[in-house]
Amino acid sequence: MSAEENFIDREYIEDLLKTAKDAGCAEVDSYLDKAERFEGLNHREIAALLLSDKEEHIKRIYHIAWKIKRRIYGNRIVLFAPLYASDYCVNNCSYCSYNCRNKFKRTKLTMDEVREEVRLLEKMGHKRIALEAGEHDKECPIDYILECMRAIYGMKFENGEIRRINVNIAATTVENYRKLKEIGIGTYILFQETYHQPTYEKIHLSGPKRDYLYHLNAFDRAHEGGIDDVGGGVLFGLADPYFETLALMIHNEHLEKCFNVGFHTISVPRLCPAQGVDMDTFPHLLDDSKFEKIVAVLRLALPFTGMILSTRENHAMRKKLLRLGISQISAGSSTEAGGYAKRERREETTHQQFFVNDDRSALSIITELMDDGYIPSFCTACYRNGRTGDRFMSLAKSGQIKNVCLPNALMTLCEYSADYGDALFNEKAAAAVRRELPEIQNEKMRALTSANIEKIRQGRRDFFV
Ligand code: SAM
Repeated sequence: MSAEENFIDREYIEDLLKTAKDAGCAEVDSYLDKAERFEGLNHREIAALLLSDKEEHIKRIYHIAWKIKRRIYGNRIVLFAPLYASDYCVNNCSYCSYNCRNKFKRTKLTMDEVREEVRLLEKMGHKRIALEAGEHDKECPIDYILECMRAIYGMKFENGEIRRINVNIAATTVENYRKLKEIGIGTYILFQETYHQPTYEKIHLSGPKRDYLYHLNAFDRAHEGGIDDVGGGVLFGLADPYFETLALMIHNEHLEKCFNVGFHTISVPRLCPAQGVDMDTFPHLLDDSKFEKIVAVLRLALPFTGMILSTRENHAMRKKLLRLGISQISAGSSTEAGGYAKRERREETTHQQFFVNDDRSALSIITELMDDGYIPSFCTACYRNGRTGDRFMSLAKSGQIKNVCLPNALMTLCEYSADYGDALFNEKAAAAVRRELPEIQNEKMRALTSANIEKIRQGRRDFFV
């Protein structure tokens, strides 16, 4: 097993933030020119952009973020929803309502309950989920997670099935990562929460998660266990957000150096009110304008990395951030174990992990995406075609993404429209397909997509390239 390495040099990052303050206007402009050429940014450049509060710079950062987003991702937005399986937890983390000192009736779904959640997720049109659980070796061992995944992948409906399970469970062993890989994990998602070690140790009061280095090296172990698609993130609001942004970049570079591929996705969760969490104890809560700037700078720094936004953010903020670089959002989410079944039975929620700020239905979120000119995508093709890790990244960097992701987005949108759309939605989807098909540059691919869409209209399903 690889040794645990502390590749986050705190002093180096603090120093960067001190010296980048002196960057002049012309210097910042030259960094922006570089970003506009899709060349990414180095540490000093990122720090200088984060620290610049000149209006003209901020405007340009937003403008370039949108340009990169359009060029690399077109107007596709990938959709997913979380499935919370268990809220048992042995950790004492001051920001999380699953905190073991927090007294509430804990839940762990039976396989029948998992299947019920999946049935309801499928009814919303979801094909991709993020499986979530607290950390508890006895109540929620790896075998339980694997059993959930088997149950989920084993379900087939008239309209399809869950085709990709991303997993967000606590840092674990190489052996357990290997098991997750064997069963067909999509992306392994884990947030570092904070890269600032003294803060990390202050807010993780007890439990296995308190071990900063074990957590920091989780993706190294995941790679060792064969998982080459990993998704990082920090919980913004715990420590200095600019420090966190730079540390995320350094983590990404560490993975690139060791495994030839960095994060497949970056999530940008912001700390939200939750049961048993005292928001007054967090001096670094992140305001909206800084948050927007950070998302946009991340887009400039890592043009080819997907960026995920959850329902922690409200409707207005989600709409705004889609223009600043977000490429994947959750829709119709419940953050409670068994929450979808409860919603169906119109029961009160009893223990959400955090309070959701965008509680619109999946259909209304998806419809609004269409109205705003985006293509909602339920694509899961890369993972199913083995285009993971560096194979995905080389596709993204080659510019071929348009010839692959756009066909998949249009085909899955047509499936969604046929199975879940009303007359108005179907009209909008048909117009979007007419508008977007000519954007597929490869002639053969365009013809194949068009033929598959016709087959979908006749009742066939699950085409992907
Ligand atoms: N148990 C897993 C682990 O240890 O990483 C993670 C699962 S947890 C369901 C998913 C994420 O929710 C955590 O990594 C944390 O960043 C986030 N989270 C916890 N409390 C939160 C809060 N109050 N507001 C927003 N996000 C929160």
